[in-house]
Order: sequence, then C-alpha cells, then structure tokens
Amino acid sequence: MRPVVVAVAITGSVPRKLDNPAVPITPPGQVESTHAAFEAGAALVHIHVRNADETPSSDPALFAQVQDGVRRHCPGMIIQFSTGGRGRDPAARGNALDLCPDMASLSTGSVNFPSTVYENSAALVTDLATRMQTHHVRPEIELFDFSHIHGACRLIEAGLMDDHPHVQVVMGIKNALNALPAEDHVLDVMVAEIRRLLPRATWTAAGIGINQSRVMERVLARGGDGVRTGLEDNTRISRGRLASCNHELVQPAAEIMQRHTCRPATAAETRAMLGLDAAYGSGRRCLSP
Ligand code: ZN
Repeated sequence: MRPVVVAVAITGSVPRKLDNPAVPITPPGQVESTHAAFEAGAALVHIHVRNADETPSSDPALFAQVQDGVRRHCPGMIIQFSTGGRGRDPAARGNALDLCPDMASLSTGSVNFPSTVYENSAALVTDLATRMQTHHVRPEIELFDFSHIHGACRLIEAGLMDDHPHVQVVMGIKNALNALPAEDHVLDVMVAEIRRLLPRATWTAAGIGINQSRVMERVLARGGDGVRTGLEDNTRISRGRLASCNHELVQPAAEIMQRHTCRPATAAETRAMLGLDAAYGSGRRCLSP
C-alpha cells in the first residue's frame, strides 16, 4: 500500500468554541488534540495559535508551547506553523519562524475570502520565504489560485526555495468570490500545472467544509502525496453532526485511503517524502528547546 501523508489542521483562525466546542484553543488543549490525531495516523500537524479570547495570535511564546508539547508527546511528528490565516497582523505572521518548526505554510498570492482580502503582497511573501530559508524551515506552498503556482516558481528563480517544495491546493472556501471551487476539472488543471512547472514537488489538497472527504478521494485517485483533515477546515463529521475531536476526522481519512490502496505514512516516511531532516532541528541554530 502506498504511504500518504495525513496532515491535521487542528485549530485554524476561523472556527470558535461556539462553532464546535472541540476546537482546541489553549496550547495544552492543542497538544492533547494533536496527540490523539497522531495516534490515529496523522504525521503532520498544521498549527495556528489563539489568544485567550479565541482571536488569532502570532505570539511566538504560544507557538513554542505547542511545539514543545508536540515534540514531547508525538515523536517525530512534523510540525508546521501557519504564517497565514485571517485576523493576524501581516508584519507579525513570520514572528515564530525563528523557533525552527520543520515546516511553515506560505501563500504565494492574495485571494478574496468571504469577508476580507487575504493579503499576501510580493514583499511579504519574499520576506517570509527569506526567513524560512534562513531558519531551514521547509515551506508548504498554499495555492488558493492558479497564479499562485507561478508565484512559487518566482521564489525558486529568486533562489529563496529549492525546486521540490510541498504544495497544497486549497479548494472550496465557501462564499469566497475567487476561491477555487472543489471540482474535479479544477484540480486536474492545478495538478497538471504543478507537474509541468514543479515536476519535483510533492502535492496535496485541502477541501474546506463539506468538500473535505470528496477532495481527499480525488487527491488519492490522482496519486497525490498527502491529504489534509482537521477542525480548521471542517467542523463536522457528517452534515448533521459536529466532529467530537480532531482525531475523529482522521479516521475517515484512513478509511478513504484503504479504498485507494493507500495507508497513512509514518512520521519517518513523511520526513523522507517531504525532504525533511530525520530529527528535529539537527544542525540548526534555533530559539526553541
Ligand atoms: Zn491554516
């Protein structure tokens, strides 16, 4: 069976406890939720942190607490900080990169979200990519639109990234004017362009809300390297029921994989697939423990 990376996006910047009480907000809650997802087969955790009032935060101290806890309780799990999301000061979005997580998300262009512009100016993208390179943090390129693939190519041309990044197509953001719809032909176009321009890249896709499992099926049918689940993207296990925790969302991912003769990659396999160090922070000068 082919190993496929299962990423769990535990918190995000949008869902609140009112939407689903299982959304982990505090660092201890986030570590606990990550640990259960890790035990269920997730090898990569995508992390946003929150203030006590649940608003999005860029506080490195919060990121450090989550990173420290995940390293302790989930041996080898790939830690990916978000440098994006809604409600964060753009100037602060890279503040935690000197904690040297394994990876960080990097959006290479702007997009209209439902009530706001998710702004990623050329200067901001370049600054974040430069900081990631400095701290040996591997980027996961977030593709919210076709042109964002070309934005990734510009970073490679500028020497800010190697030619085999991990890329993620984000599909199905509800009520967003120009977000990618979660449709087969759209994914086909995106994957064809990724393969043409970034033939050495690994790739995955995230389906938002009700699109989550459908997008997983399509990624696996097309030979993708990873799938993504978690409460950031989807708070429901079915139309009528909220997910009780992040790990409850990992279980259907594993079932869908079986149908495609795939299985969740271990943390070690994921590190090899995504070109990551075998151990945390080896040889890096970082601020984290
Ligand atoms: Zn995120």
